[in-house]
Amino acid sequence: MKNIVIFGAPGSGKGTQSALLVEKYRLKHISTGDVLRAEIKAGTELGRTAKEYIDNGQLIPDGLMIDILAGVYDGLCPCEGVIFDGFPRTIPQAEALKRMLEERGTSISGMLELDVPDEMLMERLINRGKTSGRADDNEETIGKRLNVYKSQTAPLIDWYEKEGLRHAVKGYGSLEEINAALCAVIDRL
Ligand code: AMP
Repeated sequence: MKNIVIFGAPGSGKGTQSALLVEKYRLKHISTGDVLRAEIKAGTELGRTAKEYIDNGQLIPDGLMIDILAGVYDGLCPCEGVIFDGFPRTIPQAEALKRMLEERGTSISGMLELDVPDEMLMERLINRGKTSGRADDNEETIGKRLNVYKSQTAPLIDWYEKEGLRHAVKGYGSLEEINAALCAVIDRL
């Protein structure tokens, strides 16, 4: 069983690469951003709460996010393994994920970090905004999301390094090159 955290800043290509990896390795894909956007679309109470944070470029509070993640995980697994995309985004989330998997007799096999220079992230997200229809892909909110990433999410790089799980991969170049670099790591896990 391979449980993988795909990690990186907004615009680093986590979603695109996850889609390729789930197919190749027959893993389940949990994108917390997708889960929240589906709730917004369905007009649920959770969706209404989430929308305020998302439109503002802020993170949904940890307690709420951890409960959502556990519910989604238990709906999909037991299974061959999961790619966690967009979760964890804070140290308390990483600790909760570790505990949750332990309680279910499994663990994270590796954290794959997509490294992309800052100026490329902004450019990619602005371009994506032209077609994604995402309310948070506008210049102002992108700036906030990149700041939130630096202050709240990037500390996870050290956290996973200390856990002995961090694998950094060059996150720019062709899709195929990036995918090959990720697969080379996964095949060794
Ligand atoms: P994403 O699609 O991963 O870029 O997520 C879009 C937005 O959803 C983020 O900017 C956050 O507002 C929210 N979000 C997604 N995943 C999480 C998470 N693990 N913790 C807190 N907020 C999240």
